[in-house]
Amino acid sequence: MADENNSIIRVENVSMRFRMANDRVTSIKEMVTKMLKRQVEYKDFWALKNVSFDVKRGEVIGLIGRNGAGKSTIAKKLAKELGFIYVDTGAMYRAMAYYFLTNGIASSDETKIAEACPNVDVTIAYENNEQQVILNGKNVNGFIRTEEVGNMASATSVYPVVRTKLVELQRKLAESTDVIMDGRDIGTCVLPNAQVKIYLTASSKTRAQRRYDELTAKGVFCDFDEIEKDIIDRDYRDMHRETSPLKQAEDAVLVDSSEMDIDEVVEAIRSIYEEKKGC
Ligand code: C5P
Repeated sequence: MADENNSIIRVENVSMRFRMANDRVTSIKEMVTKMLKRQVEYKDFWALKNVSFDVKRGEVIGLIGRNGAGKSTIAKKLAKELGFIYVDTGAMYRAMAYYFLTNGIASSDETKIAEACPNVDVTIAYENNEQQVILNGKNVNGFIRTEEVGNMASATSVYPVVRTKLVELQRKLAESTDVIMDGRDIGTCVLPNAQVKIYLTASSKTRAQRRYDELTAKGVFCDFDEIEKDIIDRDYRDMHRETSPLKQAEDAVLVDSSEMDIDEVVEAIRSIYEEKKGC
């Protein structure tokens, strides 16, 4: 996006309205959508002539969308169908990461992270069947879905001190109720005795396309190659860390959703579950 001087403005934590030549006020979402549909181009700033910008910092919490339209959507759907509680463990790592970020703790500073951990209380609650993550008494669901928090979660989840804390909480949750738990180490570490284990995957291209579609539908600028690179980097970090690396448990069933839509994946997992349970 460019201002009258053709300099670039970052579209993040910013609310913008555009006054068009016909005096119509349009939102940033509409402008971005038009650009993404190539109805106007970055370089075609003439298209923005007679537009006045009204930029106010901090009105919008973020334009970055939710990561993981794949497994979390599927797990939620299944949980609803089967009457289980859905537990998104990634959100817990994100909440810890959010604490570190807002307290100025660097992801590389293991000592500070270890010192901070006893001060971090993460719990979960449910509102209209949606998991809410409560960080030191505050609901942080609205703050943890940014790329910044996701990357911080990936970087800080390598530390045993962070994992021990959250794994304990996750096991407690599974003790008292039927759960579908979504996370990279559930079958191998958190719940090694889970009755049904699914290792859900898709190619990096497919996952990048899903994320790209999700973000653009929300009117967020994004670059496909950058999204794919981010996914590959994060996978690498998750698969190569020392503590609880991401890997398929020996008794997990592999489901590759690259060529499947959500309903097909839900159906595939449901039939694996029914077969295992002998329903
Ligand atoms: O799934 P989501 O993208 O929300 O997770 C954020 C990060 O938290 C992941 O990149 C991963 O590094 C970490 N994580 C983890 N173990 C889990 C869930 C998430 O290490 N069970």
